[in-house]
Parts: sequence; structure tokens; C-alpha cells
Amino acid sequence: MYKKFVQLILNNNSKSIDQLFTYGVPDALADAVEIGKRVKVNFGNNKHMIDALIVSIDCSCQIPEHKIKTIIDVLDDVPVVSEEMIKLIFWIRERYICKYSDAIRLLIPAAIKYEHNIVVKAKEINNISLSDKEKELYNFIKDNPLELKNLKKHYTYNDIFTVIDNLKDKDAIEIISKDKLKGKEAYEKYVSLIEDKNINEYDINKTKNQVNVINYLKENKLVNIKKLSEDLGISPSVINNLIKKDILKEEYILYQIEEKNVIKNELKLNEEQKNACESIISSDNKVFLLHGVTGSGKTEVYMNIIEHYINENKQSIMLVPEISLTAQTIDRFEKRFGNKIAVFHSKLSKKEKLIQWTKVHNKEVDVVIGARSAVFSPIKDLGAIIIDEEHEDSYISSTSPKYNTIEVAIKMAHNLNSKVVLGSATPSINTYYMAQKGQIEIIELKNRVNNQMPDMKIIDMSSELDKGNNTLISEELYESMKKTLFNKEQAILFLNKRGYSGFVTCKKCGHVVKCDRCDVSMTYHIKGNMLKCHYCGRTKRMMYECPKCGSKKIEQFSAGTQHVERLVKQLFPNAVTERMDVDSMTDRDCYENIYRRFKNGSIDILIGTQMLAKGFDFPNVTTVGVLVADAILNLPFYNASEKTFQLITQVSGRAGRGSKTGNVFIQTYEPNNFIINAAKNNNYELFINEELKLRKEFAFPPFINIINICLISKNEDLVIKTANEKYEEIKEAVKDMVKERSLLLYRPIPHSIYKINDEYRINLFIKASRSKMAELKKILRSVYMDKDIEYIKVSININTDTV
Ligand code: ADP
Ligand code: ZN
Ligand code: ZN
Repeated sequence: MYKKFVQLILNNNSKSIDQLFTYGVPDALADAVEIGKRVKVNFGNNKHMIDALIVSIDCSCQIPEHKIKTIIDVLDDVPVVSEEMIKLIFWIRERYICKYSDAIRLLIPAAIKYEHNIVVKAKEINNISLSDKEKELYNFIKDNPLELKNLKKHYTYNDIFTVIDNLKDKDAIEIISKDKLKGKEAYEKYVSLIEDKNINEYDINKTKNQVNVINYLKENKLVNIKKLSEDLGISPSVINNLIKKDILKEEYILYQIEEKNVIKNELKLNEEQKNACESIISSDNKVFLLHGVTGSGKTEVYMNIIEHYINENKQSIMLVPEISLTAQTIDRFEKRFGNKIAVFHSKLSKKEKLIQWTKVHNKEVDVVIGARSAVFSPIKDLGAIIIDEEHEDSYISSTSPKYNTIEVAIKMAHNLNSKVVLGSATPSINTYYMAQKGQIEIIELKNRVNNQMPDMKIIDMSSELDKGNNTLISEELYESMKKTLFNKEQAILFLNKRGYSGFVTCKKCGHVVKCDRCDVSMTYHIKGNMLKCHYCGRTKRMMYECPKCGSKKIEQFSAGTQHVERLVKQLFPNAVTERMDVDSMTDRDCYENIYRRFKNGSIDILIGTQMLAKGFDFPNVTTVGVLVADAILNLPFYNASEKTFQLITQVSGRAGRGSKTGNVFIQTYEPNNFIINAAKNNNYELFINEELKLRKEFAFPPFINIINICLISKNEDLVIKTANEKYEEIKEAVKDMVKERSLLLYRPIPHSIYKINDEYRINLFIKASRSKMAELKKILRSVYMDKDIEYIKVSININTDTV
């Protein structure tokens, strides 16, 4: 008879066991079980031991008791996931159509799967009758306790767990966990003297090494064991002997980072900043959009809000786009909050991640700074989640589950009664739309701290062509750079790397070939010499004459940063020029190196891609060139206009942040383009309202949802066959929705990058009206989360839902 039952999520990736399982709790573990702790259980054919997470505890159970298995052990001393975060696991599974185990992986760091050694030990048995098998097993451990993995080798029948359970019920054995230290790797061993006595009073031989250790500890009190043996040049056995003799005691201490000097205050906030802080803190609303022009001092506002919550003994999460997680943000936060911060980014090793995680879990920090995954940090009393540059794509996970950090943060704010601040100079359309509908409160910072916006100019590149300049640097940009260099100031040139993606444009009139049905640029494919739409798969033959002006100068667009670097070095041989793009930035150090050198003035001209647009604060930059604005404008995505507006604004926001005026040159073949002009005039509202109209007209988010299902496999035939079969299944399931025009189903098409890492990808797009989402998600789960496609990776992406 069990008094308690637990519901568990098993830590296993199989689609077939993506459900909750009920297990019985033996009385001995009744006090230890708690929601959010992990347990060991056996599963399936009884040969497998598996970790599982407790998600609920009940006193009764519908299932007949003989069918219920027992949990073997409780793995954690304290819960690793809070009850609120367990609610989030359920929500993520529904929202992003994934498995429980996928959601759990976001919350528990990989390294916390420490090796759990279970030891089986015999008890005295008097007058207990055992079956033959029980006797056999008991005999293996009668004299010596055995680790389960060794016991398994001796006892070769496949019912080992049943037999162990029976023996436990008969009180013939006990199960011991050898090592309960949570995430041991995050800790380091320290030693200190148990008693500080005169050296002669210690009861030892007093070898030279022992005396040295004792004297060292008299002076330094608590010392890291590694440092101790290094400093004294002794082997750890000397220390261990002293521990055995009860002269030293050992303790485990969380890995420490060095102390940081805190520079108290801080800038005096200006009126706008002060009002922003006060409104956010005092409002009853939970979610805010801090819409502040570039250089308006948003970071100061964030830090003040965080400070406010620290005073209420709450921790906050500060999220930044992955790449701007450099020196810059961390510098600023360390200055303000010392070492009471934890930092998460994708380059941390498993161990480093665990250290940071444990610091947060133990409540040793006030602020967590990190890229998107830091939103899942194990904070207990959450003050605020701040998402800087909230419009950045890197807030949407690129791997399954493809969660949207903003949605997760908003969900958490409601569960945990905390606040979310979304900051940007160019809010995403989705966020802005939610604000318009009253779901997000808007707070504005309309002015730069230095009160001057940069001077922005649009350059018509086809007239450069007429002048005989067919390079990527216009005359005016060239002149401005010359002046900048002469004044010992700095310049940034920006080029969109995705310019390679192959749209076709007329260099004479700027016409771009678009899909008639989807209003996005078509992409050139060498195979078949044709143009293809990224969404609906429609094709056109490649053309050699501009359909608009008849010019023969219509061609696939391409330009790369390397090409620009060569050109700049030719034009300015005496300047120090560096390039920052995905190819040249092989690691974080590389990036930081350039960041530091640009900051201290040893680089004159920086050429780069999107990376440059993000949040850099360099006061000495006075010329910024956007070399080919068209390259962003013509990305084959429905949100290309939005991205263009954001990038132009962000890049130009790098100019003139100090006391000198900045000059920004936007080079384009479409000088009259509405978006480019709106960005030039810094007219966000005009842009966004026009864009919303178009989105509505062409049926794009936020008015409908776009669902993208990508099937991935090394086996090309299999993935094509499955994609087609699944398409037929979906088609049948949604036929009524299609009939009533609330859903549009496209045929499967190869991904625009069909083969990556030897894996083939097939995309399927669906457009669906919001009212049908619940029903559609059920269909998608039953079609794609089924075990019959266990061997194909499925990645489902649903654009942001307004909450
Ligand atoms: P944003 O994030 O809005 O682009 P930042 O927070 O980076 O702006 O601020 C821009 C610059 O202005 C920074 O160098 C910052 O130190 C400075 N700054 C911000 N607020 C103030 C203030 N109240 N007084 C003086 N300087 C400020
Ligand atoms: Zn033309
Ligand atoms: Zn199309």
C-alpha cells in the first residue's frame, strides 16, 4: 500500500513516452519527495533506470496498485525546478508543440545529470522467507554492498528491479545513494583547521610538509585545496591524511569568481529616464515597451529598475541579443552590481553553465545577464525580466523547441507576478501591435541623452553608376570618411551578409523580382536557372531584361564584406581597417579583441554585418555607411521591410553618440523607397502603420499565423517521402478549414538551404487564422509528434502569438 503517489515526466526523448507516468512512493522516501525534485525509476522491460522529474504528488491513484511501480530513489535534496517553472514546462509543450523532455532540457542544465551511484546493501534478515531469485540476489550483497551497476553484472535475469522491490518490501535490503551533492562539479573543495593550536600540540609526526600545511592554514584560514597543494608543492595525499586525522576539515564551496569593485553611482537620470523608471515600477501593468531612440539611455533605466528590485530582495534577468553579450554589457553591469551577477551565453562549457546556474539557484546573485536561454534561470523571487533590443531575431530559438523569449517572459511575469520590460528603438511589429491593442504599456524616451540625432542622407547608387563609379562606396560617403579620418574619428561601414541570398535586381531602376502571390523577393537558383519563392515554391524563368525599364543590367545581387575590405584598403591605405562578420569572428575572443581595439581608437574603420548594429556605444564614430540598403529590403522573408527599418535605424544609431555630430549615408538603388525614407526621417510610427496595413492586406502576421514545419534527416529519400505523406495527412485533417478559407496549406518545398551538415530539409508552410490555432496545434501534434516518425527530426515554428 502506498500512501503517496507521484506523477513524473521521464527524462527520455522518445516520442512514444511523452506523457505523465504515475509511480508509488515507498514509505522510506515519503518525506523526501517534493515537486521539482528528480527521482530514479525503472521503466519498460525493467532493465532501464531512468531519471524523472516529479510534477505532482497525490494521496490516491486511479490505477490498480499492483500495476504501479515504485520509485527507487530521490536524487535531489532540494527541488531543481520550482512549481511555477513546472507550470511553464506544460505551457511550453503546448505552445511550441514539443515533448515534455524538450521543455525540461531548457530548464535543467545538461551537466546536472551527475553520475548517480546507487548502492544496494543487505540488512539483517531473521525469519524472512525469500524466493529463490530473491535469495540469489541477496547473496551477492550479503557481505559487501554493491553498486547497482555491478550488481546488474552478477544478477543477469531481466527482472532485477522487481526482485529489488520485493526485497525492499520485505525489509531485507536498503538502497543508498553514494553521492548526493547536487551538481558537484560546480563546487570546489576547501580545507581549514579544525582547531587552531600550537604546532606542537598536534598529534602527528610533523613532517615538513604537514607543518607547512598547518602553518599555511593558520595564516590563510580557508583555502582551496588545489591552490594549497600548488602553493606548497605538495601532493594531495598529505592534505587527505590530515583530513583523516581530524586535523583539517573539508568543505565544498561554490566556485568563486574574483571580487569586483563596485563604482557606486551612477549617472543622474534625466527627466525622461526618471519618469520611465517610476512609471514602470509603480504601474499595475506587468508588461512594458520601453520605446527609446538610440542613445536615449535605456541601459541606465534598466539598471535602475534592477536596483529597485534588489532593494526589495528580488533578482532580475537582463537579456541581450547573443552577440552583444560582450565586454560592453558585462562591463557596465559589473561596475554597477559588482560580482553579484551571473552570466549565461552559448559559449559556456557545460561546467561553467552549471556554476552559473548553481549561483542563481543558491540565490547568490542579484542579476542574471544572458542571451535568450537565461530566461529559464532558476530565480526564486523574480523582480523583472528585461529584454534589450527586443526586436532581435536571436530571441527566437533556432533549435527545437523554437520558443520565443518574449512570450516566455510574459508568461513568467503572469505566473510569478513580476514585470517584463521590452526595450528597443525599433520595436518589432508584433510587440507594437500588442501595445496598440492595450496588452503592453508603452513608455517613451524621445530624446538622445546628448540631444542630437545624427544627420541622415540617402544616396542614389544608380546615379553613381551614371557618374562612372561602380564601386560600393559613393563619392559623398568617401568624402565624409576622409574628413572623419582627418579628424582622428572613426567610421563604420555596414553590409548585409545575407546580400548573398540571391535576389535579382535591376541596377538601372532598382526593380526587384518578387513573387506575385506572396510579395516577397524571389531567390535565384543556379539549378534550372530560375527564380523561386521561398514560401509558396512558385518559380519564374531567370530574366535578362528588366520587366520594368527594359535595361539589360538585371542580375543576381552579390557583394561581400571581404570585397568591401579590399576596396577600403585601396581607398584609405593609411587607415587601420578591420572586418567583423560571421566568417572572421571565429570566437568570442576575436570579437572582444576588435571591440576593445575599436573602443580604444586603434581601429579607424570597421566593416561588418548585422553584428555591428547591436547596441555599440562608441562616442568617436562620426561616419556610418549603410552600403546596400536594398540587400536587406529584398530578403526573401515577409518581414523584410521591418528588418530594413530596424537595421538602418540601429546602424545609424551608432553615429554621433558623443559630443560630435554623426553623419549617416544610406546607399540604395531605390532612393524613393518608403521604408528607407521613413528610417531616414526616424519616423517609426509612419512606418509601422503602413506596414501593418500591408501585413493585413497580404495576410501575414500579426494578423494571421504562419506555421513552418521543417523535417530534417540524413536520409534524403525518407525525408521527402515522409514530408509528402505527412502533407497528405494534414491536408485531409484541415480540409474543412481550407474550405471555409481560414487556412492556407502550401505544398512541401525544399528549405532554402536544402542540405546542411549532410542533413536534408523539407519545409512546409501553413497560414492559419488565429481562431483556428488550438485545433490546428492538436492536428500538428498528432501528425508530427507521432512515434511513426521517430527517426526524422521535426522542427515546428509558429510566429509569435499575441498573448
Ligand atoms: P541606449 O541603450 O538607449 O542606446 P545607453 O544606455 O547606451 O543608450 O546610453 C547612451 C550613452 O549615454 C551612454 O554612454 C550612457 O553612459 C550615457 N548616459 C545615459 N544616461 C545618462 C545620463 N542620465 N546622464 C549622462 N549620460 C548618460
Ligand atoms: Zn529596370
Ligand atoms: Zn510565393
